Amino acid sequence: MFLIPPADLEKRRGRCRPEVEKLRRLSWETVSSCNLCSSRRSVTVSLTDRYGLPAHTVLCLDCGLFYLADCFTAESYSQFYSNGAYRSVCSQFNNVSHTIEQIRADQRNYAQTLGSVLARHIQGQRTGKLLDVGGSAGIVASEFVRKFNLRGTVLDPAEEEIAAARASGLDAVVGSVEDYDTEETYDLVLLCRSVEHLMDLRAAFARIRGLLKPGGLFYCDIADFMELCQQVGPPETVAKIDHRYWLTQATALNIFGALGFELVSMDIAFGFGYAGYLLRPCEPITVTAVPQERIHKLIEQIRRSQLDWTQYGRASRGIVERLRYRAYRAKRVALRFAGRVSKEQGPNQPAELQTPASSNSALQKPPSSLPIVAMPRSSSSRKEQLYPSAATIVDRPSVG
Ligand SMILES: [Zn+2]
Repeated sequence: MFLIPPADLEKRRGRCRPEVEKLRRLSWETVSSCNLCSSRRSVTVSLTDRYGLPAHTVLCLDCGLFYLADCFTAESYSQFYSNGAYRSVCSQFNNVSHTIEQIRADQRNYAQTLGSVLARHIQGQRTGKLLDVGGSAGIVASEFVRKFNLRGTVLDPAEEEIAAARASGLDAVVGSVEDYDTEETYDLVLLCRSVEHLMDLRAAFARIRGLLKPGGLFYCDIADFMELCQQVGPPETVAKIDHRYWLTQATALNIFGALGFELVSMDIAFGFGYAGYLLRPCEPITVTAVPQERIHKLIEQIRRSQLDWTQYGRASRGIVERLRYRAYRAKRVALRFAGRVSKEQGPNQPAELQTPASSNSALQKPPSSLPIVAMPRSSSSRKEQLYPSAATIVDRPSVG
């Protein structure tokens, strides 16, 4: 069972098509080697992203990092995030539109949960300094300032977000962490729901190492690519142009190790699809430490998710047709009971009301041509309601 079956993916992509056509016309570039280990050895796991953009996602065969091999140029990403296209394509794909109030409420909930998860590690560092990288309007930073009595700084490329963070009393700087030029050092650096969006993973982590005080801690959470593939669908339902990198729980610790961080504590408190890592600087390890069997296991899991997804699509299509037929029969019985349809009228029913059982021509019609009647919700859509964050792959949404 997948949260986005094949037919649903097509429907979602249909809604995104006009925006996707515009995005295709931005400037693109090709990435030929892994940002983390410089290897050129990779496996292509998807030819398109979930929106339908021709962005290949690949898995590095040497370190296990998933990354986009086709992506926008830095300038195009800047336009994508600042002109509303990012929020627009996300909203169309998920068929939801969040208000600023909802986004801020989500961020507050996230901040409170994260604060309680990290409390036992931060208690000894009160009156220290916090840097929230990609911290948007400062909701998470504000919660940490309040809860732990830290001095908070937000770093974000969006000017509007930074203005909002300043208005709430935080120090706030427009920019990216790779280019953050400061003499300040911090007791705690947060990178929440943002690692996938970084432009340069290696440079960003190197800069964060330099920004930590001795004994300082770094919190980074990930959307686990493999967990999402198992639950949402294969890579083409998960990959997104805005996620340049993806980690998984199987590879994250080695990747963090290669970037010069070791684990202090891990949490899976945010539920399915997400994992959080509290880290501290260490001597970088070599990335070849990732066992090859682990990489090949990822490839096998992806192949299996592709196969299962295709079969699931066929099976769920069959279920939909059977349910439509049953609903049609129920409606016929009700109409007969009301005296509006006699048994003799049956064979003369209009072609669009004929069912696969009564018409060969209807067999060739796509399910959408069958009568639209009240249908039970499919189990996949129920699941999506139970786990909205899984199908929507919620980032920390920026307000703007
Ligand atoms: Zn690599």
